[in-house]
Amino acid sequence: MTEKVRVRFAPSPTGVLHIGGARTALHNYLFARKHKGKFILRIEDTDQSRSTEESIEAIISSMKWLGLDWDEGVEVGGSFGPYRQTERLPIYKEAAEELLAKGPAYPCFCTPAELEERRSIAQREGRPPTYDGRCRSLSKKEADKLMAGGKEFALRFAMPKEGETIVADIIRGEVSFQNAVLEDMVIVRQNGLPTYNFAAAIDDAKMEITHIIRGIDHLSNAPKQILLYRALGFKAPKFAHLPMIFGSDKKPLSKRHGSSSVEEYREAGYLPEAIINYLALLGWSLDDKTTIISANDLIENFSLERVSKRPAVFDEEKLSWMNGVYIRDLGPIELTSRLIPLWKEAGLLGDENDFGLSKLEAITTLIAERMKTLNEALDLTRFFFSDETQIGEEALDKLKGAEGLREILRAAHAKLEDLADFNSSEIEAALRAIPGELGVKPKLVFLAVRIAATGSEVSPPLFESLEILGKEISLKRLKAAEGLAS
Ligand code: GLU
Repeated sequence: MTEKVRVRFAPSPTGVLHIGGARTALHNYLFARKHKGKFILRIEDTDQSRSTEESIEAIISSMKWLGLDWDEGVEVGGSFGPYRQTERLPIYKEAAEELLAKGPAYPCFCTPAELEERRSIAQREGRPPTYDGRCRSLSKKEADKLMAGGKEFALRFAMPKEGETIVADIIRGEVSFQNAVLEDMVIVRQNGLPTYNFAAAIDDAKMEITHIIRGIDHLSNAPKQILLYRALGFKAPKFAHLPMIFGSDKKPLSKRHGSSSVEEYREAGYLPEAIINYLALLGWSLDDKTTIISANDLIENFSLERVSKRPAVFDEEKLSWMNGVYIRDLGPIELTSRLIPLWKEAGLLGDENDFGLSKLEAITTLIAERMKTLNEALDLTRFFFSDETQIGEEALDKLKGAEGLREILRAAHAKLEDLADFNSSEIEAALRAIPGELGVKPKLVFLAVRIAATGSEVSPPLFESLEILGKEISLKRLKAAEGLAS
């Protein structure tokens, strides 16, 4: 690529960052990094009734969490700013005046109520409910008179009535649109604010964007934007429209499919590394088989040519499997440092140094295999932190219901009390001697000790867990459970 790549993510701040938006941001980011270009974050907030400051903050915070750092844009600045559309109004005004003077823009005096009425008549009569071009035929004199009289107006862009506009899309090839079906779109609303297509086209041109990478839902905007570039004398950027994202039921991904925002995944204990890897594969692929790809490898290998035209399917289960892979890949030291804030927040852990970092790392090592999300660590490890075991209802029923558990627990207590070295292999050897001595099944012994020590029938590996708990606490718990058992 000879030109300097400049791409942008341009969210409308009308809500949080969803999976689809994050996928778009990521594809832009990867493309920019691969080509050593610039990744720009622009906020498209001209629809003031729907844009909010909270949404801007939420989008920015999710992007930062994912590690999608931008080179120019809101917060960081840059030489093509400002990067918030409501701060660029004079730029749009100037372009609108130019189009009005040159001809392709015209004032439209139709009121919203009139437009609505005509739309519903058209629909009733089976015609497309698009603007009928009424004000396009007003003479300049008539229009000037109405304007001078203070009648409110919007500005529309006169579409060519014939011919076609071709969008040369890197992913989809050439897509052609008949100009005759393109509506004379509003470019400046009655309130003086530009519409999305107008502001985006001007910004993409003025910010010297080279490639527009965005969701397929914007493909139909591309011919309109191309016609605007032409009218304003700008060179059109290249386009790449990413495929739709479906849920597992083959319907477009939405709230119905469960979590759909990046923040929800963060709160549920997903790692940004796993989400990045997964999002990259929503459309793009390295080859037919590789699924675990590091961020560096994504950057090195990313290409728009390898993005599929076919819809991508968002598979929640695959994402959580991938998250488990990344969790294990962190290793005990890093995984511990990510769990510490969660343990603290849940009120399980005070000061990690008082508790002992090496003990925390030992706990982490025990549970890493069993985790798909960070949050799962809480239930798996609760028993390590509390003074006493909280025995769950089901486990308690077992403890009370199964014959002979009291005797087993008493024997376990005696054996473990005798151990000079309280490590997992000594603990294992001591407990394995009990079934033979008491004539009971090993399974029952381990069940009883597990419930006593951890409060549950499912837990991290038992002998290692006892070692981490330490002799004193283990014995105390065996004693306490003995009192409950039958
Ligand atoms: N503001 C538009 C959106 O959030 C951006 C579309 C584009 O990338 O051109 O959908």
